[in-house]
Parts: sequence; C-alpha cells; structure tokens
Amino acid sequence: MDTHAIWRAVLSDLQLQITEGGYQTFLARTTLVSLTDTQAIIGCSQPMHIGFVEKRYAQAIKQSLQAQIKRDVSLLFTVQSVAPRQKLDGPLFGIKPAPQVSSFTRILSSSRLNPDYTFENFAVSSSNHMAYAAATAVAKNPGTSYNPLLLYGGVGVGKTHLMQAIGSYVLAQKPKAKIMYCTSEEFTNEIIEAIQTKTASSFKRRYRQVDMLLIDDVQFIAGKNTAQEEFFHTFNSIHQTKGQIILTSDRPPDEMVKLEARLRSRFEGGLIIDIGPPDFELRTAIILIKAKHRGIDLPIEAAKLLGQNIENPRKLEGVLIRLLTESQLNKVSITPDLVLRHLGKSSREAAERMSVDPEKAIDVVASYFNIKLSQLKGNKRDGFLAQVRQIVYYILRVELNLSLMSIGELLGGRDHSTILHGVRKITTMVSTNEKVRGDILGIKAKLMG
Ligand code: ADP
Ligand code: MG
Repeated sequence: MDTHAIWRAVLSDLQLQITEGGYQTFLARTTLVSLTDTQAIIGCSQPMHIGFVEKRYAQAIKQSLQAQIKRDVSLLFTVQSVAPRQKLDGPLFGIKPAPQVSSFTRILSSSRLNPDYTFENFAVSSSNHMAYAAATAVAKNPGTSYNPLLLYGGVGVGKTHLMQAIGSYVLAQKPKAKIMYCTSEEFTNEIIEAIQTKTASSFKRRYRQVDMLLIDDVQFIAGKNTAQEEFFHTFNSIHQTKGQIILTSDRPPDEMVKLEARLRSRFEGGLIIDIGPPDFELRTAIILIKAKHRGIDLPIEAAKLLGQNIENPRKLEGVLIRLLTESQLNKVSITPDLVLRHLGKSSREAAERMSVDPEKAIDVVASYFNIKLSQLKGNKRDGFLAQVRQIVYYILRVELNLSLMSIGELLGGRDHSTILHGVRKITTMVSTNEKVRGDILGIKAKLMG
C-alpha cells in the first residue's frame, strides 16, 4: 500500500474513534508525509494544531498506524498543508479517482459542503422520515417555514448528511446564495482566534451576513461563554434578515445543561426533530447507496450481512472501504463469504481491544444508569433494576466473554440460569427495542472510552 492508502485507512479508523468536530478540525486535513521502517512523519495543516494533535491524538494515531503497517514506528509532526480540494474530502472519499472539479463542486467547497451529502443519496425510513420531510421543506423555502431547524440524534444517524443536503439543494437553485457550514468547535476556535488576532469584526461580518448558517454538533458550544455570546448575536442577526439557521446536536436543547437560557429559547423557537437509530432495512439501504456511489459491486446478500452486523452507518462506510481494499489486494470480489470473514476478524480484534476489567464494566453500567453498585448487586426486585442487571449480564457475557458462572459470582452469587435468562432477554431486545439498543451502544462506547 502506498502512503496515501495507508493514511486514508488510518484516518477512517480514527474517524470512528473521536468526535466528528475534533476529527474535522484537527485530523481531516493531516497527511502522511513520509514513512520509513522506524518513523512516520505526519503533516498538520496548521502550525498551531501540532501541539494539540500530538497531545490528544498521538496515541490513537500510533495504534491505528501500527494496525495498518504491522510495525511500531515513532511519530514526528510537521506542518504540511493539503491542496484545497483534498481538504474537503474525508478519508473515505479518496478512493474514487478525483472527478473533474466542476464549478458546482467549487461552489460547494467554498461553503465547506461535502458533495456526496445530497437528498438523492439519502435513504428514508421510519426513523428519519420526519427529519427528511422537514429538511426538504426548509430546502424549498429557506428562512420561512422552520427557523431554526434543529436535528438531533445519536452518532451516525445522518444529521450532518441531511443538514448539508439542504445547503447543497439551495446552492443548486441559487449558486450565489451565501451558505456557511461549520461545526460548533470550528465556530468556537475561529472566534477565539479572531479575538486574539483582533479580527473579530471581520469574523462577525462573515458569519452574520449569510443567507444560511449550518452549525453542526452545536452541543459543544454549551458552557463556552464567548462562543455562546457571539453565537447569540449571529443567530439574531441572521434570523432578523430572514436567513435560515440549521443546527444539529446529539441531544435536545433541554438536555444541554450548560446552554445559556437565551440560546435555549432561540433553539426552541423553531422546529426540533429527532432522528432515531436506523433499523436493519435502512442500514442495508445505506450500504447499497454507498456502494453504488463508489462504483463498488456489492451483492445484496453481502449488503444485508453488513446491515445485520453493523449498527452504526458511520462504521458501515469504513467497513465498506476496508472490504474494497481487501478485495482489490487479493483480486477477489466482495462476496457474503468475504464479508463474513471480515466481520469475524474485526469482532475478534474488538474483543481483544475490549480487555476490560469486569468490575470496571459493572461500574460503567451502574454509572450509565445512575444507580449505586449496592443496588445493582442487591436483590430488590424493581423492574428497572432488574433490567439493568440483565444488561450487566449481557455486557459481561457478550462483550467480555465471561462464563455464566463467573458472572453469577461477580454479582453476589446469582444462579447461572438467572444469568442465561437475562442474557437471552437482552439479546432479543437489542434487535427489537431501540432504547435498549441505544443503551448498549452507549455503554460499549464508554467501555471502549
Ligand atoms: P451524524 O452527523 O448524525 O453523526 P452523518 O451524517 O455523519 O451522521 O452520517 C454518517 C454516515 O452515514 C455518512 O456517511 C452518511 O452519508 C451516512 N448516512 C446516515 N444516514 C443515512 C441515510 N439515511 N441515507 C444515506 N446515508 C446515510
Ligand atoms: Mg455529524
């Protein structure tokens, strides 16, 4: 593999591990400048990012790189900017030969929109049809119907995609429209930088005069006072001139604890819609769309297998790319068999990574549900506690691979048949109950933490 391919694989791996905002701000624009037997030189687009990337992400980069090249190398960070077009492309978008940059792509890129995130490429099902309907309504009549539009939901449910689809749609109708997309972390960083370099007035002009402002993952703004203040004025100014504001968040405004009250009331003044986790059919549809879009020949059975086994659409795409690489390297086509082998391998790897101490896993579940260890290990037959206990059994059995006996012992001497019953119950609920599925995913994320 050449350095580009290696780095793309590393980045797609990192994208799954860290927040979207952190990824977009600090890693999306990095490059692998050179790679020798002992050292990797990594280029950051901005000098001021180096220290931060080194401190925050070096460990993750190292692990991921090591997994790709099967050897340990030291990391050296340097400044190296990327050509503007590449900037926009995430790691997952580099496999196709770069198409001729059309003038529309240029327009999209100046608004920082990803050309792949369109309504045409968006699959609709019960979990997202409300959000889709609202998004198309806003796209057709920006600034009039729902303002702001706030989409919220878990990781990978398509918030960023849908939000950007609105922007692309409007630009296709009106190429001169001033549309601005950024994450709330970028917004925060830019305002801080503007204050430091005494360019705050140009920052204000730039943001306050747009026709449409898209702020992604707005939850990160909560608690950051300067950014909230500035955002409040930006919001008002755009709203007054009938500009459209679109926001995404991982939770509804009333659960953003450190959000200023005046911002909360602004957010609540528009339309708030949640997007639920995609079901199996939707996940399969998404993977088929992604494959088609990249010109990958993916049999429906293989797509279904992926849809069954991978919960998060964000991971679907990463897996698809890895499958493609594997099939190209070995000159074989992507069959259900190849998918199965690939899934087997990654679940083994995940299990190895999950070498979590069982006591810690129990703690994590207790704190996730905000209950005391003593309640968890006790015998009170309360419906909620009973279910949390079953979730603990499930995590210990399925994720940590402990035996039923040892799980029983860890939880204050319970019978192995009780454990088995609980594990079975949660296993069924994971595929039928969205709340439970969300809880399990949340707990797993904390365990991997
Ligand atoms: P979020 O912002 O909610 O975390 P993204 O918008 O980044 O999620 O979506 C993650 C990935 O899954 C993207 O590649 C996106 O294109 C894809 N995706 C999610 N939902 C859909 C959908 N309904 N149709 C097509 N692709 C989707
Ligand atoms: Mg997003």
